Amino acid sequence: MLDLAIVGATTVTPSGVGTADVGISGEKIARVAPPGSLESAHRTIDAHGMLLIPGAVDPHTHLDAEMFSSHTIDDFESGTVAAAAGGVTTIVDYAFQAQGGSLAAAIEKWTAKAQHRAIIDYGFHVAMLDPSPEAIAEIPRAVDRGVTSIKIFMMMGFENRARDYLRAFKVAGESGALLAIHAEDEHLIGFCTERLLAAGRVDVTHFAASRPPLSESAAVSRALAMTELAHAPAYFVHLSSRDAIAEIRRARAGGQMVLAETRPIYLYLTEERFLERDGAKYVGYPPLRTAEHRDAIWEALADGTIDVVATDHCSWSLERKLSADRFTRMPPGMSNLETLVPMLYSEGVAKGRISISRWVNLIATNAAKIFGMYPKKGAIVEGADADLVVFDPKRTVVIESREMNSRADYDPFEGFEVSGWPKLTISRGEVIASERKVDAPRGRGEFLPRARFSPDWRS
Ligand SMILES: [Zn+2]
Repeated sequence: MLDLAIVGATTVTPSGVGTADVGISGEKIARVAPPGSLESAHRTIDAHGMLLIPGAVDPHTHLDAEMFSSHTIDDFESGTVAAAAGGVTTIVDYAFQAQGGSLAAAIEKWTAKAQHRAIIDYGFHVAMLDPSPEAIAEIPRAVDRGVTSIKIFMMMGFENRARDYLRAFKVAGESGALLAIHAEDEHLIGFCTERLLAAGRVDVTHFAASRPPLSESAAVSRALAMTELAHAPAYFVHLSSRDAIAEIRRARAGGQMVLAETRPIYLYLTEERFLERDGAKYVGYPPLRTAEHRDAIWEALADGTIDVVATDHCSWSLERKLSADRFTRMPPGMSNLETLVPMLYSEGVAKGRISISRWVNLIATNAAKIFGMYPKKGAIVEGADADLVVFDPKRTVVIESREMNSRADYDPFEGFEVSGWPKLTISRGEVIASERKVDAPRGRGEFLPRARFSPDWRS
């Protein structure tokens, strides 16, 4: 006897999109079966007219993070509640190493933030901010405990320590860790910023000019050279511009192991937003770009150059976001965990830009594979965790921040009309969200130790 059966849906599995019923026993998917062929269950959900997809896997969040001398407004409780409401059942958050601190201390600190609060499963990357010999020597131990990716910021003093970072890249590659790289060139940005500030151009309307597309493509190119030299696989976070994408294509054509992520804001918003009265609420690193770059990102989603759409959820109150008078002091990031899944369906699938399978790969399967969580997470297959979303493709929702579960009091996509929305979110066999309302005990989420990066991740 199954615990739960979901019947009648159009189900997205690795073998395609078709009708299939899904049976759950305990926390696992026990059966994926032709319609009507499941044994009986204690509870049955009729999902006719719905899509049944794996719970989304967001490998880029910043919950309870400290930056610009403040804390992001969502912690692991409110952030994972927003995630669950939007169909995200797994996150991988960034644990920041302190200057002079160890990687182990960063992981302990983030564990304390997440356990007892998260309602969905979570893993960690470690963000290396001080590539000391001691920290580099710790990389294999971090990998052994399931923290199998290292974040590198190519700003904040990267250039001064480029040779130390190269040593870290080498050890990461040898240890089976994946490098997650924030590619923006600090000197190109510093030069542009200096000139703008000297000319008194300090408000948000000048923010995009302070970090031009060249500062991204130059950093991608440099990181590709460094990771090739160190024989380390590279995953570029939140790519935003056309030439950066071209660098990825070129490196791949040359046989380099390179992966690419973008985030929702570059798909749905352009830099004209900075001209709005409260334009500072759209500040993120890198900045919003012109429509030409937005279109290039869409093309890269459709043709497979970009592997993952992740949120970079990093939320603030509107007051905090608008509190700085110059763009260099505006805290970067936005809330978008709750809208990741439906907006990519609405703008991507419903508008004919990507297929249903590609949507599921971009929001769930690829991240699970790249970051060592597959097949436990990221796909509807027998034996996987029963992390599922019953998605209503016909439901229309207008995004209003007051309806959202994030503690942020504004939403970057306020007013967007979205076709398709999650109806139910299931995590390890439990219904944790229904019709945008979340009902799950805090702390039910579990730490996910992840496997080493596999160069054959697609298989
Ligand atoms: Zn980030």
